[in-house]
Amino acid sequence: MYKLTSGFETHVELKTNTKIFCSCSNGFGSAPNTKCCPVCIGLPGALPRLNKQVVEFAVKAGLALNCKINNLSYMDRKNYSYPDLPKAYQISQFDVPLCYDGFVELSDGKKIGITRIHIEEDAGKLIHNDEDILIDYNRAGVPLIEIVSEPNIESVEEAKEFAEKLQLIMRYTGVSDCKMQEGSMRCDVNISVSESESLGTRTEIKNMNSIANIRKAMEYEVKRQTEILKSGGKVIQETLGFDEKSGTTYSMRTKEDANDYRFFREPDLLPIHISHEDIEKIRRTIPELPHKKLKRYVADFGIDKKDAELLVKYPRVASFFEEAAYGIKSSKKVANFILGVIFAFLKSETLKEEFDLKISPESLRELVLLTDSGKLNVSKAKLTLEQMLLSGKRAEELLNDDDLRGFDDDSLLSLCQKAIEVNPKTVADYKGGKDKAIMALVGFVMRESKGRADAGKAKEKLIEII
Ligand SMILES: [Zn+2]
Repeated sequence: MYKLTSGFETHVELKTNTKIFCSCSNGFGSAPNTKCCPVCIGLPGALPRLNKQVVEFAVKAGLALNCKINNLSYMDRKNYSYPDLPKAYQISQFDVPLCYDGFVELSDGKKIGITRIHIEEDAGKLIHNDEDILIDYNRAGVPLIEIVSEPNIESVEEAKEFAEKLQLIMRYTGVSDCKMQEGSMRCDVNISVSESESLGTRTEIKNMNSIANIRKAMEYEVKRQTEILKSGGKVIQETLGFDEKSGTTYSMRTKEDANDYRFFREPDLLPIHISHEDIEKIRRTIPELPHKKLKRYVADFGIDKKDAELLVKYPRVASFFEEAAYGIKSSKKVANFILGVIFAFLKSETLKEEFDLKISPESLRELVLLTDSGKLNVSKAKLTLEQMLLSGKRAEELLNDDDLRGFDDDSLLSLCQKAIEVNPKTVADYKGGKDKAIMALVGFVMRESKGRADAGKAKEKLIEII
């Protein structure tokens, strides 16, 4: 039996206003080489100045991941030459990182250790086209944190959950949007398999850009390493890439050692001092984190765990839900409207993440209150919500007096009686044990009432009469 051992190195781009060592703006998607200055493209004589917000965001991330914070840490030079790194060194942290010794707790209670979190600058971006390799330095000097986990991930499922939890916690703290498709979160996955207790030789899969790909690459790599070991071969320690099309890993280079980088203290920057008081001040800015929110939704709102997980999965959805459900009893109905109608309207993951709606949480609350008061039935409310999402109008602008008249019990009773009279075969089917036949009668009532009757009430009444 071969056992998998894995650890993650995750790069997360911080959403600060400006870059880490200069005042160039920090943001995704501008024309190439328009957000650069002598500092971030490494011209001679240009001197870096550390952005305070980078340190604050990194500490916030560290605290949210249960880390301890070093009151004194340093910036170091990591020397290597590559076209995307014009200075031929990256300013990073080597022996004394800003944060250390934290963990992420998985749903089964297992803790995946966080060894350290350090701050560093991102490099530029190489763009390969058919004939040339182009360089965009907009990304050079974008602040990053590198989150290094302990190698105590023992299955592909654990790896997936770890990556998802890490991404979500970072999003909740607001330090990064962690969009893997845009590269603001990138994972390097270390992986080894071994038959004995001692660790096998590990390979590192670089720059995974989606959680689905992490899963595929790990599954492939476990299989590849296991086959090598089974046939008596040796796994080579190397850095791999993942080819999405073929679903396989390929060798990029044999692994370099830390020594190769000739790390030394960055002489142009002062040590980073952060006081206990400042750390506590930052701790107080951390909002309620997803695992606590989930527990509260289940306990206080009575929402099913699965539904609560879906609401918590997107920070903007969670805050919209909380505002819409504020102060009303039927918060479960609010959740249903969001997860049913609004999620069907926002089809892609990106749209759900952005949750950019034309309606406000108050508008949804008003709609739910109309159904609570019996003025509007739930199915009509759902149709109205669809119109609201398209037009941005409030429920009362879209509904006429007739819609809001509700449907009184006498009218419901007479329509149910009519349904039974004109559909004797369906009634016989129902009596004969076909439970589903009742829905045909409900359908009749809904059609006759032009959607104003309440389907749930109609069903009850029909069963009562039959
Ligand atoms: Zn700059």
